[in-house]
Amino acid sequence: MTTYFNYPSKELQEELKTIAQAIVAPGKGILAADESVSTMGKRLKDIGVENSEENRRAYRQLLFTTDDKLSENISGVILFDETLYQKADDGTPFVQLLKKKGIIPGIKVDKGVVPLFGSEDESTTQGLDDLAARCAKYKKEGCDFAKWRCVLKIGKNTPSYQSILENANVLARYASICQSERIVPIVEPEVLPDGDHDLDRAQKVTETVLAAVYKALNDHHVYLEGTLLKPNMVTAGQSAAKKNTPEEIGLATVQALRRTVPAAVPGVTFLSGGQSEEEASVNLSAINKVPLGRPWALTFSYGRALQASVLRAWGGKKENIGAGQNELLKRAKANAQACQGKYVAGSIPSYAANASLFIANGEAAVGKYVPGSAGAGSGSLFIANHAY
Ligand code: 13P
Repeated sequence: MTTYFNYPSKELQEELKTIAQAIVAPGKGILAADESVSTMGKRLKDIGVENSEENRRAYRQLLFTTDDKLSENISGVILFDETLYQKADDGTPFVQLLKKKGIIPGIKVDKGVVPLFGSEDESTTQGLDDLAARCAKYKKEGCDFAKWRCVLKIGKNTPSYQSILENANVLARYASICQSERIVPIVEPEVLPDGDHDLDRAQKVTETVLAAVYKALNDHHVYLEGTLLKPNMVTAGQSAAKKNTPEEIGLATVQALRRTVPAAVPGVTFLSGGQSEEEASVNLSAINKVPLGRPWALTFSYGRALQASVLRAWGGKKENIGAGQNELLKRAKANAQACQGKYVAGSIPSYAANASLFIANGEAAVGKYVPGSAGAGSGSLFIANHAY
């Protein structure tokens, strides 16, 4: 075994580190608006809006024309390929709208999950073949960071060795290619919340998965200071008998990270994974209050938990654009407080704060609206079997 290798040039290291640090600057996090066309379709269907290119553009325009003060709490936005090339009504490209606000554009570069043949319904994520060329193009278009999501499932026999190893390796190869094209990779190994497992099992699986991911990143000589991690919080399964307190979730999450994530990584940007808007804020705040050393910034990269109220307040109607934008500002502010351990539960109510956003099997679309939950801010956003 040879141990000879090079890290990127000093200039490239500096560029990558500067971008990563800006994304996790104190009090800031990411808006994940990178839903694929089909996932966006599910979210629009949920509010009775047709999944047309124009409606997807109108919705993203709502997000990106929100008042400039959004950038006080949002450092970066993850886009989907289609959105990267769309423009506002006045012809301004969305990328320019974001940059003018001081928000860093990012891009989802994976091409979705595919089954691992012979496994118990496990998957890997595809999209490596033309990745270098796509990253070069995205960098020219103004994107400074990327996201690639892998999915791991907790079951009696899963995650398997095959899926842990394969997903760690594909994430490392993705990260290496991104860095070669001056793009900061967000490494996302999502352990799904589907199942009835308890907090302890979720913690152990998360630790095993993260340990494999950082071994693979090291094997591929990825420059960790120029990366970010996007993991699940450690929570018991969605159908677990016992519900844990935010303090228990915070402790299990920070313990898992401390055991596996090197201090060289500048930040951890959690996904919301089907938690309600309120849960995602309360749990993030609890994570940032755990009395253990935390060498990385611990912040948010939420999709559903930043957009559920926005979508419902908007409902596809022009006259509700301002109301939708107001919901986005509120959740961004709540999570900005949470990433500093300062969010007080219930202090920033939102339209769908308590609505469940869970979709079984990891399909990160907005969950079924729970009647009566509007205005409460804490409904579950879990949808079984979800796919971003
Ligand atoms: P959720 O916050 O809705 O889980 O989505 C974030 C994301 O980008 C998942 O890949």
